[in-house]
Amino acid sequence: MKNRIYTDIVVIGSGCAGLYCALHLPTDRRVLIITKREADKSDSYLAQGGICVLTEDSDYDSFYGDTLKAGHMENDTRSVELMIRSSQNVIGDLTSYGVSFQKDENGRPVYTKEGGHSRERILYHKDITGKEITGCLHEQVKKRSNITILENMMLCDLFAEDNVCHGILAADENGLSCEIHSEFTILATGGIGGLFQHSTNYRHLTGDGIAVALKHGVELKDEHYIQIHPTTFYTTQAQSRSFLLSESLRGEGARLYDRNGKRFVSELLPRDLLTKAILLQMEKDGTKYVWEDLTGIGEKNLKEHFPNIMEYCEKMGYDVTKDWIPVVPAQHYYMGGIRVDHESRTSMEALYAIGETACNGVHGKNRLASNSLLESLVFAKRAALDITARSKTSFHPIHRSEYHSDYIDLKKLECRNKQLVLEAIKKKQSAEKRTDEYFKRNEEEQCLIQSQ
Ligand SMILES: Cc1cc2nc3c(=O)[nH]c(=O)nc-3n(C[C@H](O)[C@H](O)[C@H](O)COP(=O)(O)OP(=O)(O)OC[C@H]3O[C@@H](n4cnc5c(N)ncnc54)[C@H](O)[C@@H]3O)c2cc1C
Repeated sequence: MKNRIYTDIVVIGSGCAGLYCALHLPTDRRVLIITKREADKSDSYLAQGGICVLTEDSDYDSFYGDTLKAGHMENDTRSVELMIRSSQNVIGDLTSYGVSFQKDENGRPVYTKEGGHSRERILYHKDITGKEITGCLHEQVKKRSNITILENMMLCDLFAEDNVCHGILAADENGLSCEIHSEFTILATGGIGGLFQHSTNYRHLTGDGIAVALKHGVELKDEHYIQIHPTTFYTTQAQSRSFLLSESLRGEGARLYDRNGKRFVSELLPRDLLTKAILLQMEKDGTKYVWEDLTGIGEKNLKEHFPNIMEYCEKMGYDVTKDWIPVVPAQHYYMGGIRVDHESRTSMEALYAIGETACNGVHGKNRLASNSLLESLVFAKRAALDITARSKTSFHPIHRSEYHSDYIDLKKLECRNKQLVLEAIKKKQSAEKRTDEYFKRNEEEQCLIQSQ
């Protein structure tokens, strides 16, 4: 007897996109969220710097301009407009859920700045903004009787017929398979950091949503646009993921130095340009890192705004109030993904994609710092509202049991997924004759093209 679940909507992924989307789906529809590991093991929990917001109408042009400049003008301008115009509404939702952002002594919001921003417009909660936001979303989801979360359940395939999605095939951690039949399916599987040896992402984020899309001919967009974060902690100790040194450190006055302790670049360049400058400097200096000096931020600000980063550096043997720390670029974010329209619909009927897995073109070639939590939330809500308008009151699942065996080798599947995604990236890179600088230099070392 095969394990079967019937639900109205299945959401794959429990990051900020999946959770926020679920909260905006109708309360009289059954919503099932599945997630590959425990519910709190998502990149959304790791976000440090903050979330952008339109602070006042007069900032619109500048916010828009900064986003396009960072994206090399390759952005979808309607997506950018929607993101910025919806930002206050999203922040309103978050605060109504209990998310708290930094305030001054008069109770007014405090904004910080990161690379590529021409002014302060980033709301934050110490250096653990993602945990604050996603933790609150998770608490809200737990209160909804129509939403269920199944942990340690991996998306393996889509049920699709005539380009209509009817649900998914998933498997638990022992590889036991489960059919999930649904009227709508939402892919919110996050980024692709698990394909790289050095990434700030959780290792289990291996682009599975993108891989199943590829298998079924669902369209992708900007597959080759991968963001490398300029500053992660350099260490020779084995680590599962690279520790990020938030860009807001530089926004608050951190400096970058070459091997001789000299500044070599403007620290607030957009990420791709700064990454290039750092890689070039490392090559010139013959080093594996450059130095970041946080002392200019001041001990008080460091302690109040960046306690998590301070604690990590201390654990690694650095007192950031005195010592410089070694930093190196690492894979961080995926601008490309499953092509979606402004309601987050994919090219397959009844299949949506949201968050980092999706590509609505908002980031263009390079994401502006702290735009991704915002983009994830804005377009997750748009997906939910679109589904609400289209959802029927009764849903009749189709039964197709020939899809799978009872047991799935998840390790093999994950490797095949990685290969598929990597091949798609490389194909696009060679078609465009544009290989990312970081790829050129690090291809062999960084990419896990292995099949073990
Ligand atoms: C260290 C770090 C710092 C960051 N800082 C910021 C910041 O300050 N500001 C900002 O805007 N952005 C930041 N980002 C980026 C931002 O956090 C992410 O882009 C965003 O959280 C993505 O949300 P998501 O819901 O799409 O994916 P995620 O939060 O990554 O969630 C993906 C979910 O999908 C699940 N999943 C994956 N594959 C499967 C599968 N096969 N089956 C079932 N479930 C699956 C995962 O388990 C997880 O629950 C940061 C990212 C990192 C890594």
